[in-house]
Amino acid sequence: MGNKKSKLKPEIMERLMKETKFTEDEVNTWYKGFLRDCPSGKLTCEAFKSIYKQFFPQGNSERFAKFVFHTFDENKDGTIEFEEFILALSITSRGTLDEKLKWAFHLYDLDDDGFITKKEMLDIVSSIFMMVGNTVDLPEDENTPEKRVNKIFQFMDKNNDGKLTKEEFVEGAKNDVTIVKALSVYDGLV
Ligand code: CA
Ligand code: CA
Repeated sequence: MGNKKSKLKPEIMERLMKETKFTEDEVNTWYKGFLRDCPSGKLTCEAFKSIYKQFFPQGNSERFAKFVFHTFDENKDGTIEFEEFILALSITSRGTLDEKLKWAFHLYDLDDDGFITKKEMLDIVSSIFMMVGNTVDLPEDENTPEKRVNKIFQFMDKNNDGKLTKEEFVEGAKNDVTIVKALSVYDGLV
C-alpha cells in the first residue's frame, strides 16, 4: 500500500550514503519517521518551531528555532525536505568538531556574507537566552546576551575588526571549551 511512497529513490539514497554518516537502514528509519510527522514530505517552519517548544516548554524558543530552520533549509525554499533534514542531522549528531563548527558558523552568519558580525551573534545569543529562560546559571561576566557576545568577540576576533571569519570562529571555538559548550546549546535537539 503506502510502500512505494515510503521508499527513497535509489539515486537519492546513493547520494545520502555518500554525504551522510548514516547507514541505509538508519536513513530508511529516519525517512519513515519524517513522513509520519510530515506526510507532505516537507517540514514547515511552524512545525519545526513546535518541535522546539516541546524541548523548551519553559522558555520562548521561536526565534532560535527560526534561525536553525533557516540553516537546515539549504535551498532556501521555505521548507525542509528530507534530504536537507538528514544532511543537517548527520553533521549535528555525527559530524567531527570541525564539521559541527562550520555548520554553526552558517547558523550564526545570518545574511550568509561569510562573516559573523556582533549584531548577528547578538541575535542568536539573545534567542538562546530567551529559549533557555532562567534554567541556566551563568557567571556574572556573561549573564546577559551582550556580555556573552563581548566575551566571545574578545576571544575570537583576532584582528579586532568587529566581525568573525569562518577561520576565526572555528579556531576560537576549538580553543575554548566553554565557547564550544555555549555554541552547542542546539546539540541533541536536532
Ligand atoms: Ca528547502
Ligand atoms: Ca554575516
